[in-house]
Amino acid sequence: QAHIRRGLLSSAAKSPRLLNPARLAPSLSHQSTAGMKVLAVLYAGGEAAKQEPRLLGTIENQLGLREWLEKQGHEYVVTEEKEGPDSAFQKHIVDAEVLITTPFHPGYLTHDLIQKAKNLKICITAGVGSDHVDLNAALGKGIEVLEVSGSNVVSVAEHVVMSILLLVRNFVPAHEMIERGDWQVSEVARAAYDLEGKVVGTIGAGRIGYRVLQRLLPFDCKELLYYDYNPLPEEAAKAVKVRRVEDLKEFVSQCDVVTVNCPLHEGTRGLVNAELLKHFKKGAWLVNTARGAICDKDAVAAALKSGQISGYSGDVWNVQPAPKDHPWRTMKNPLGGGNGMVPHYSGTTLDAQARYAVGTKSILENYLLNKPQEPHNVIVGKKGYETKAYGQR
Ligand code: NAD
Repeated sequence: QAHIRRGLLSSAAKSPRLLNPARLAPSLSHQSTAGMKVLAVLYAGGEAAKQEPRLLGTIENQLGLREWLEKQGHEYVVTEEKEGPDSAFQKHIVDAEVLITTPFHPGYLTHDLIQKAKNLKICITAGVGSDHVDLNAALGKGIEVLEVSGSNVVSVAEHVVMSILLLVRNFVPAHEMIERGDWQVSEVARAAYDLEGKVVGTIGAGRIGYRVLQRLLPFDCKELLYYDYNPLPEEAAKAVKVRRVEDLKEFVSQCDVVTVNCPLHEGTRGLVNAELLKHFKKGAWLVNTARGAICDKDAVAAALKSGQISGYSGDVWNVQPAPKDHPWRTMKNPLGGGNGMVPHYSGTTLDAQARYAVGTKSILENYLLNKPQEPHNVIVGKKGYETKAYGQR
């Protein structure tokens, strides 16, 4: 718990270690493995990535690592192809020593692929959230899993606050009305409220959840609540005036707004399902920027359609890219609003990309030089889970 909480109060996103250009120092002597293969699964950035070099997490800009790795004699394979046995991901994973993936376009490292990955020593998540790796299987094979903790937590917390506001204030239908050329204030005002005076609760009060609470404080909500098996330090809870609720059904039944900010693991897959949604306050709003699979796809769509919840907003999907006919793209509440879905991008703002590219390089550098990793970046180490955030073990 100590290392989860360490990044809580001071913004890890602004950590000098993450931003210090000295950590980018070139001319590393390679001491661990000569001529290793580094495989990166990143998303295709297209024209945008050619025009905007700060889109670092793309196959075009390659996290800025190519020259640095190749100078040291390593092979750097970058691909967006990640599905099926003929994909570059599945072909190269067989002899790659390092795998880098982003949660935005995750290369799903399943149990079977891990068995085939003969040389794999370390998986690096360029971002936060390592559920795309079968963590137990990685542990079984002695593969370490690290992420750039804190790199995009402010980016996501800002998106959460925006999403809460756009649902509560019924923003999307109001904007769509303007684009259509219409003007009927009552049509949108009938479902618009103030955030002031509402009860907002976060499932998970780690780096992101806590930053959401900090940012909500000036809105004068009726109450801020959290549900997390890791309690906040007393001082931290006091600072944001948050109350812990230990029973999940109790928790959701008290909230006007529920925001999901915990990792996806065995204990959170499908956590927000049809049964739990019955315990929500009728007409509550739900925001999920954590992982799509934490919320049951069909149960959420049905709850929105029936009006049991008034809105659902987020950027994460159970499969990414989301299929064209995914119900979350078009689901609506009975008044035709309540959908704030966007592609997975809250944690990949240009500011965030700069931070997770530097952080990825820093993890690689430690690996190459056989130096200890920053403890807060280690999800699964050689001996076990080094984080307390991926379930109670
Ligand atoms: P964190 O490790 O700092 O905090 C996670 C918190 O969730 C911990 O306090 C943990 O105890 C709690 N938790 C775990 N299981 C729980 C459960 N069953 N019920 C309640 N609480 C539980 O992580 P973080 O930096 O705050 O990130 C949280 C998650 O957000 C990441 O794992 C990732 O999935 C997601 N994320 C999304 C984006 C995006 O772009 N949308 C970006 C970054 C992170």
